[in-house]
Amino acid sequence: MRLIIFGPPGAGKGTQASRISSRHGLLHISTGDMLRAAVREGTQLGRLAKSYMDKGELVPDDVVFGIIKDRITKADSKDGFMLDGFPRTIPQAKALDRMLGEEGLKIGAVISIEVDDEEVVKRISGRRVCEKCGAMYHIIFDPPKNSGYCDKCDGKLYQRDDDSEDVVRNRLRVYRKQTEPLKEYYEKTGILKVVRGTGTVEEVFSEIERILEKLN
Ligand code: AMP
Repeated sequence: MRLIIFGPPGAGKGTQASRISSRHGLLHISTGDMLRAAVREGTQLGRLAKSYMDKGELVPDDVVFGIIKDRITKADSKDGFMLDGFPRTIPQAKALDRMLGEEGLKIGAVISIEVDDEEVVKRISGRRVCEKCGAMYHIIFDPPKNSGYCDKCDGKLYQRDDDSEDVVRNRLRVYRKQTEPLKEYYEKTGILKVVRGTGTVEEVFSEIERILEKLN
């Protein structure tokens, strides 16, 4: 199975992707996580990526595509994967199709999680992430038992630099302008599946499961 989890920042892509990955044993590939790892490691790529990420802008297509290409040609991607945060532009989607096409492969479904802008701002400004294991919390909707620390591994929780309200609003502008047109791109090939992202994590996950059952 090759899936894309699609939607605006804060739609719950990472949360749902982790669930799908645990339930179906599907490899979860997040370009955002890979870029943040490069930033933490202080590599040249990380420094370049940070200059875009801090402003809520997209990292250039060729850079992101290079990372994805390296990742999905690794042996563990052979049996399938789920892309989270990629593609984000039409050229990225075309490059992905071209690359998979060369191997006779294609994307089976694009699951688009729909959430409106005000809900996104509300969700993201309260979001906290574990610096050790990446688990996500919300200070109001999904607080950790021990304030400031992860329930799973006791790691410290932090707020992503790009989760401040002004950067989130820019990420939303960028999403509507550069990323949302991809819905039409995938709708044309009949693989776009739309899910309402405003329910609880369980409700959204059940809806995604219903879609995945029909694919098998
Ligand atoms: P995310 O964790 O998916 O919200 O991504 C965080 C940030 O990483 C984005 O705001 C972009 O700056 C960058 N990024 C992640 N994926 C991509 C991509 N496919 N294309 C360009 N930039 C990306």
